[in-house]
Amino acid sequence: MKLYNTLTRKKQVFKPIKKGHAKIYTCGPTVYDYAHIGNLRSYIFADILHRALEYDGYKVKHVINITDVGHLVSDSDEGEDKIERAAKRQKKSAWDIAHFFEAQFKKDIKELNIIFPDKFVRATDHIKEQIALIKKLEEKGYTYKTSDGIYFDTSRLKDYGKLSGQKAEEKLAGARVKMGEKKHITDFALWKFSPPFPPSCNQGGGEEGDFFLNKTPHLTSPRVQGEEYQRRQMEWSSPWGKGFPGWHIECSAMSKKYLGQPFDIHTGGIDHISVHHTNEIAQSEAAYNKPLANFWLHNEFVVFGKEKLSKSKGNSITLNELQESGYHPLAYRYLCLQTHYKKQLNFSEEALGAAQIALNKLYGEARVLSAPKGECAKLEKEFKAAIEDDLNTPKALGIVWDMLKSNCAPGAKLATLLKFDKVLGLGVDKNLGKKVVIPEKIKKLNQERQEARKKKDWKIADKLRGEIEKMGYEIEDTSTGAKLLKK
Ligand code: AMP
Ligand code: ZN
Repeated sequence: MKLYNTLTRKKQVFKPIKKGHAKIYTCGPTVYDYAHIGNLRSYIFADILHRALEYDGYKVKHVINITDVGHLVSDSDEGEDKIERAAKRQKKSAWDIAHFFEAQFKKDIKELNIIFPDKFVRATDHIKEQIALIKKLEEKGYTYKTSDGIYFDTSRLKDYGKLSGQKAEEKLAGARVKMGEKKHITDFALWKFSPPFPPSCNQGGGEEGDFFLNKTPHLTSPRVQGEEYQRRQMEWSSPWGKGFPGWHIECSAMSKKYLGQPFDIHTGGIDHISVHHTNEIAQSEAAYNKPLANFWLHNEFVVFGKEKLSKSKGNSITLNELQESGYHPLAYRYLCLQTHYKKQLNFSEEALGAAQIALNKLYGEARVLSAPKGECAKLEKEFKAAIEDDLNTPKALGIVWDMLKSNCAPGAKLATLLKFDKVLGLGVDKNLGKKVVIPEKIKKLNQERQEARKKKDWKIADKLRGEIEKMGYEIEDTSTGAKLLKK
């Protein structure tokens, strides 16, 4: 299998560290809000990688982390923690926010037929490991202290920034990065001190080994410049004082614990290349003098119009919203597979509707095939070659349709389709014996259309028919009323 490695900027043949085994670490969600469909593309892509490696006979060990502390609103180690901010705004505890959105995330990836990783690992469950790693870096002279935390000194590394290939000045040109007391613009926080509470007090240090968890939100809070001031909820004692880990250290500590160092493949969205993954590499390699991971794979963004989908820009769309509009989660998965993971995906409802029609058609074709038997060897070879060419899913989907149109025997077609779907994960197997289920939203649109017809409001009726068809359903007007069918 060939994979494009961001680190070497080349498509390379995948060679595992241990024969027949592949270890993958995927940077997971920051659980302060619902994942948007851009985020979810990252996990669909990692899932295709996982499935493709299994298809090729590897035993896969996959770890996804849950960032439930330490991800600040700005990449330059300042501003509020995203989870603490959400808690404050929603008047909930930070722990409740994190648990709620973690559960929502798991629900989303289940609906997208993403294979659950062998392990989900939470940052807050690994504070000890993160502190130990920071201590190791401190002992080796890679850290320094400022008034707000312990920082990593990036000037100590000759090859800092090798993942993005950018120089510090280039990377930060135009970026709003505050130096604060940092010695170099690329230095980053390993441990942040909790803001003093009450605000006028001095920072108090914690006892070493005392992993004090503040799980009680302080509801009676002093006011600072007219605003209610709340004490940080997630904080722990450390050798440097009470506080919380920086965002990047969790991935270094947890990947080492569960996959070892180096491990095979690290994945994430392209926005992680220049800061988060660059800093993971810096920490892990400084601590252990060996690579963190051999392959670095990054998916491109989902964009809407010209803008990147983003939670903070407020233009995010969630899977739940798509479902409420009558789309099947797997229609979104199909849409993602139609674009190579290294290309931007321009999201539109029209494209999603077309993907839903194609998916319904695929299920329909599968339903009329006879029991799986035999194979379509030539097309299977082509499919394998497409997947092994840096996960070329658009080409692989084309081969699926070629195979269904081919003159292979019906039983061989179904056997081959089911094999292909082990990689694509479009849920063909689960839909085989099933009756077509018409979503409630479509039924409602159809009812409205019937009412419009009764009132002889043909314009509205036609508009509603158009909406129904756009989502992959057809209306057959019969003498006994309108019948809904899948296209
Ligand atoms: P976050 O929850 O913000 O930590 O992001 C989770 C994952 O989604 C990361 O791998 C990001 O790189 C990725 N990501 C963020 N925005 C987008 C987007 N618009 N399209 C695709 N992936 C994204
Ligand atoms: Zn990470």
